[in-house]
Amino acid sequence: MRGAVLYAPGDVRVEDRQDPAIIAPTDAIIRLSATCICGSDLWPYRGVEKLDGPAVMGHEYVGVVEEVGSEVTTVRPGQFVVGSFVAADGTCEICRSGYPSSCVHRVFMNEVGTQSERARIPLADGTLMATPGMPGAELIPSLLAASDVLGTGWFGAVAAQAGPGKTVAVVGDGAVGLMAVLAAKQLGTERIIAMSRHETRQKLAREFGATDIVTERGDNGVAQIKDLTGGLGAHSVVEAVGTQESMRQAIGSARPGGHVGFVGVNHDVALSGDELFFAQVSLFGGPAPVRRFLPELIELIWERKIDPGKVFDLTLPLDRAAEGYQAMDERRAIKVLLQP
Ligand SMILES: [Zn+2]
Repeated sequence: MRGAVLYAPGDVRVEDRQDPAIIAPTDAIIRLSATCICGSDLWPYRGVEKLDGPAVMGHEYVGVVEEVGSEVTTVRPGQFVVGSFVAADGTCEICRSGYPSSCVHRVFMNEVGTQSERARIPLADGTLMATPGMPGAELIPSLLAASDVLGTGWFGAVAAQAGPGKTVAVVGDGAVGLMAVLAAKQLGTERIIAMSRHETRQKLAREFGATDIVTERGDNGVAQIKDLTGGLGAHSVVEAVGTQESMRQAIGSARPGGHVGFVGVNHDVALSGDELFFAQVSLFGGPAPVRRFLPELIELIWERKIDPGKVFDLTLPLDRAAEGYQAMDERRAIKVLLQP
């Protein structure tokens, strides 16, 4: 089968990879209908995360089950499935408490590399969810978004305690930030402030439910959020970048007693104890427990109540993945869908 492999920063190639096979009785094999490039794939692509040799790429996926191991009971061949970017057993104490992305048996799907024609999904029962039927082509981008960015933005909004009566600020205008805007709106938030300096992303943020746009960053961005909230700061802030600046911006934008949901994969963030102490905010984040949200997200998509697939603004054949990485690296594309 064809699949994407990163050889060195900036050097991603689609080449022949070994076809997947059932290894454990809890595995499933799927044929991908669509996959995509994540903002977090840019960390190794840019050389920020070091490589130990060639790495298979991709952790987002939707597709049709081809084969299941002898212990898989919840999905069967022929079903269309959406899965989380973290495989989980669904049965350990951490999974049962709602945090499958920290499952004691978890497998990060980027180790499998789903920018490919087919993929082995470990722990299929705890990881995959079948859709009510075979989706039309128009639903596939939205279902694919549920595999990571929508679920991650949703978790950010939940962790920030977005909802009725709250003002939510979103730091980061990548796909996850935009999905957090959509989630905050769905959760009943009236006022949603998106922080973005890019016109096309601002427009999409407004379509997803943003009521205000702040174009400043850092301390100036924080000052603008304070201006818009009577000097207090937002009740809820979603951090969807993962850098020192974005974390400081998120914490600074929250009012005392507020909540910050941080879902940008953190890189070299160091917080000052002093600032944390006097900020008096709750911080909660980490890899999103996407599987927990999938039943609700799939239903919203299936009933056409949300259209997160709009976040994909470039579609390419899998063989042209390298162009997709370039487009996202240069911020010419928000999120790239790849067709195997
Ligand atoms: Zn578990």
